[in-house]
Amino acid sequence: MEQELNPFKIAQRQFDESAEILQLDPSTRALLREPMREFQFTIPVRMDDGTVRIFRGFRVQYNDACGPTKGGIRFAANETIDTVRALSAWMTWKTAVVGLPLGGGKGGIIIDPSTLSEREKERLCRGWVDVMWKNIGPTMDIPAPDVGTTPQMMIWMMDEYSKLVGSYTPGVFTGKPVAVGGSRGRTEATGYGTIYTVREAMKVLGLDSKACTAAIQGFGNVAQYAAIGFREMLGGKVLCVSCFDRADRKAYTYSHPAGVDPRFLQSITDQYGTIDKAQAQAAGYLIEDAMAWIEKPADVLIPAALENMITAETAPRIHSSVKILAEAANGPTTLEGDEILKQRGIFVIPDFLCNAGGVTVSYFEQVQNAYNYYWTVEEAHEKLDLKMTEAFYAVVDTAKSFKVYNRTAAYLVAVKRVAEACKLRGWV
Ligand code: NAD
Repeated sequence: MEQELNPFKIAQRQFDESAEILQLDPSTRALLREPMREFQFTIPVRMDDGTVRIFRGFRVQYNDACGPTKGGIRFAANETIDTVRALSAWMTWKTAVVGLPLGGGKGGIIIDPSTLSEREKERLCRGWVDVMWKNIGPTMDIPAPDVGTTPQMMIWMMDEYSKLVGSYTPGVFTGKPVAVGGSRGRTEATGYGTIYTVREAMKVLGLDSKACTAAIQGFGNVAQYAAIGFREMLGGKVLCVSCFDRADRKAYTYSHPAGVDPRFLQSITDQYGTIDKAQAQAAGYLIEDAMAWIEKPADVLIPAALENMITAETAPRIHSSVKILAEAANGPTTLEGDEILKQRGIFVIPDFLCNAGGVTVSYFEQVQNAYNYYWTVEEAHEKLDLKMTEAFYAVVDTAKSFKVYNRTAAYLVAVKRVAEACKLRGWV
């Protein structure tokens, strides 16, 4: 059980399966099932009360055969090196499945950012860069926001890096605010990217999007725009969203008899994705327990919170009406949970395809930084839609031709591309 919930073991076993189908040679397998480089370090930070607190930081550069490594930095109380390793592996497959000229990486700090003041957060962000700056950069490794980190934090980090290298370098961090080198469309990119793949899955399954409903886990950046996109782009109804309530230290599911209004809920949600319970209740929202979302009679389930949410225990609770599971979060399904999804014939849009919208617009941001020429939001959305749709069909077509599950097909597409790059570069 313990092994199953170790996200890196899950990532390795998923890789092994595709390596076997692709009949990769032993050296390519050995190279691709481990990170190429890892950094684990301490970050001393002067706190507001004058004391110095030591934080633990990570960066894993999984594979850079296709280009500089790319991936977010998480601030999370339960961060571990194995989580970062797994996420860096998935980033490698994610950039490859979308066909971006990038590799995969991930970073993190063990901290609940809501326990820090703004100035402490800034010092912690700058501290991370003070340790890592020689090993990151637009042609080496480009971090971005993830759980617990924000566009403002990327600016502090970019500013620290620019000071250290003595040159304004916006392309070193993506996910920056539009005012300082960010791309239009980045904020909504992961949620909208998810919805573009859901739209195509509905076409494949012959579903009318306007008649479809969704149940969403989470209400942070990704879930908010997935909910908005589901309602506004597809014309569907969002039955519920859920979030962790920081005051109560537990999660709840929020539903409304008329369907959730994501724009309203967004207006009463804080920067950490916690919905104001009292205001939601006053607006007629029903508040249920954390996992109530998974039992809703929806057509589409969108886990958009954290990993290991769909397990041997929770997967049997999925309603028989569910046809599509769109994994907006990274690693939301355990291996045992996945077996249940397979048996039930649920059409899974695997995480590193489904949530690739963020890294795709991050890549667009880097391109715009390099040219110092910025696109309109329509241009960013249109180019994102093209990339996501192309990647979706690369996976679905591979699933058909190899007669494999969608997740395996996504691995086949991605691993094949990275293995080929390693070979062409003469590494294996
Ligand atoms: P976020 O911090 O903005 O939001 C996380 C949300 O999950 C919050 O609403 C939080 O309350 C909720 N949550 C936490 N624990 C929960 C629980 N037990 N039950 C229900 N809800 C819970 O994070 P985000 O950026 O939206 O990322 C969500 C997921 O998507 C993560 O897995 C992340 O790695 C992945 N992802 C994010 C991006 C991006 O661009 N932000 C890109 C790709 C993948």
